[in-house]
Amino acid sequence: MASASVVPRLPSWWLEQALAAEGDPPPAVALAGDATADVAIVGGGYTGLWTALALRERAPELRIALLEAEICGHGPSGRNGGFVHGYWAALASVLPVLGEERALELARAGERIIPGIRAWAEARGEDVWLREGGMLEVSAAPAQDGGVEKAVAAAARVGRGDQAVALTRGEVGQRISSPVFRGGVFYPECATVHPGLLVRALRRAALDAGVTLHEETPVTGVRAGSPNELQTPGGVLRAPEVVLATNAALTGWAPAARNMTNFGSYVVLTEPAPEALAEIGWTGGEAIVDGRMFLHYFRTTEDGRVLMGSGSGPIGYGGRIDERFSRDVPTAARAEAGLRRLLPGLGGIRVERAWGGPIDVSADHLPFFRTQPGTRIHYGAGYSGHGVGPSWLGGQILASLVLGADDEWTRLPLAARRVPRLPPEPLRRVGGGLVRWAIMACEAAEEEGRQPRLAARAAAALPRLLGIELGTR
Ligand SMILES: Cc1cc2nc3c(=O)[nH]c(=O)nc-3n(C[C@H](O)[C@H](O)[C@H](O)COP(=O)(O)OP(=O)(O)OC[C@H]3O[C@@H](n4cnc5c(N)ncnc54)[C@H](O)[C@@H]3O)c2cc1C
Repeated sequence: MASASVVPRLPSWWLEQALAAEGDPPPAVALAGDATADVAIVGGGYTGLWTALALRERAPELRIALLEAEICGHGPSGRNGGFVHGYWAALASVLPVLGEERALELARAGERIIPGIRAWAEARGEDVWLREGGMLEVSAAPAQDGGVEKAVAAAARVGRGDQAVALTRGEVGQRISSPVFRGGVFYPECATVHPGLLVRALRRAALDAGVTLHEETPVTGVRAGSPNELQTPGGVLRAPEVVLATNAALTGWAPAARNMTNFGSYVVLTEPAPEALAEIGWTGGEAIVDGRMFLHYFRTTEDGRVLMGSGSGPIGYGGRIDERFSRDVPTAARAEAGLRRLLPGLGGIRVERAWGGPIDVSADHLPFFRTQPGTRIHYGAGYSGHGVGPSWLGGQILASLVLGADDEWTRLPLAARRVPRLPPEPLRRVGGGLVRWAIMACEAAEEEGRQPRLAARAAAALPRLLGIELGTR
């Protein structure tokens, strides 16, 4: 097995840099004693912060309090790869879930994400390293060619071939040179950001807009009522409207538990090497993914580093967020092995940092936003590793749910669809672990030009046979 040259740890390089740029401020004061608000938001990642800002804009009279267990950006919002996109790149997998009409509705709504983030950052004078270079999906093994073809065919089928453009091996080579890239598809709708700068800029905006922020304030209990009560170690917050924007932690909360599970995703970050990037011709700022199910995702940074991620981390159990999601050396090693295999032209470029986080995977790989029946508790999660852009949509939807609106946001399939259920624990952990192992074994064999073993192929096909999208090939 490949080894990792760096042990994964937190905080991420992104968050560390963003905090340093702010002069390492102290956390906002924790909740102490009893307090009230019109809207209480739990979770200071993109979802919670975009929700707060959308509410502030639409209903400025509301008193909003946001409770964050650690500091804003501590979760995946401060650790991710920084790929920002809507749903055009996912069309081939969204079509069978939603059907053509609803899939197109979602893709069109997703087109508002990048302009929304751009306009917001410009208006605030925030530099979040937004770079609109599109996304490239490359086939890095014969078994991955089919995924590229499907993506191109899906966009062509709905008359939007411009959203998924087939690239030959030579055309891929003009954007980035690698001996293992066999061809690919280019999705224009994708940008990259500095995730840490983005989440901290959102925090600043929320504070400027008058949101009351309490950090180091974990919510330990939620009691539905009128008002609802949020228990924390230092006091109780009462609010008639509550938004739970805690992402992977929602897997441990009964109303959402059967719709999602958590997987780990890890990245490695190299030293700056702009000359090496120029050498392989990767200077256009494209975000790139390969065709694996537990994919590799990679990008460059403004200072000429490469971030290589692997979505092959351990599966969680019952929503517990533990060290599997931040200290798993084998997954960091797989990300590093991906760097070496996919980009050999970068030579011995040094890996400087590694970190990981939980991915909230829903049963159909799309996020869901809802109000718990009979209550005024709203929640959203299930981004399935694609939440940087979609959390902007999530913020709009959750704000509409709080305001009781029936509008363009609440009618989106993200808010109005039936999400399939996953098996209960411990079956989910055991079954999901088996499928994960099988898929990884198949994909490794295929990359090495071997036929995957029958047992692995059979286990990898299980979810599809059971009608579950989770870990589906
Ligand atoms: C390594 C990695 C790479 C990724 N790369 C990409 C990518 O390139 N593109 C993409 O689109 N997506 C990516 N994702 C996914 C993306 O980061 C998430 O979908 C997105 O950040 C979700 O935002 P959020 O606000 O919902 O959740 P989070 O950022 O997790 O925020 C939730 C917050 O809630 C807080 N919290 C939890 N429980 C409590 C509690 N009880 N009380 C108070 N606060 C609580 C947490 O501390 C956290 O700050 C990646 C994820 C990881 C881990």
